[in-house]
Amino acid sequence: MKVKIRKGDTVEVISGRRADKGERGEVIKVYPDESRITIQGINIRKKHQGQIQAQGRTMTPGIIEFEGPIHISNVMLVCPSCGKTTRVGISRQDGGAHRVCKRCEALID
Ligand SMILES: [Zn+2]
Repeated sequence: MKVKIRKGDTVEVISGRRADKGERGEVIKVYPDESRITIQGINIRKKHQGQIQAQGRTMTPGIIEFEGPIHISNVMLVCPSCGKTTRVGISRQDGGAHRVCKRCEALID
């Protein structure tokens, strides 16, 4: 399956963790080889940072939060024109392939 989602797109989570379902966010990273993406504010993971030594003192930075990658099959693109989740079509015009919203047929890029 070809990845039709790109960095900067807005997507909606359609399946996966309950806390994230229905949430929307901006794609901040795409991993095409794994068909995974990370989305701003979605799939927040907590990592406990161990103690570190700094300037002769021991510090405990505590918990670090970061977005974990999720599989693209768990999200749908939100069309910037009609604001709805949509499947993405490809329109060939002007000598290039453009993504197009299958609901309103607006060009996405
Ligand atoms: Zn649309």
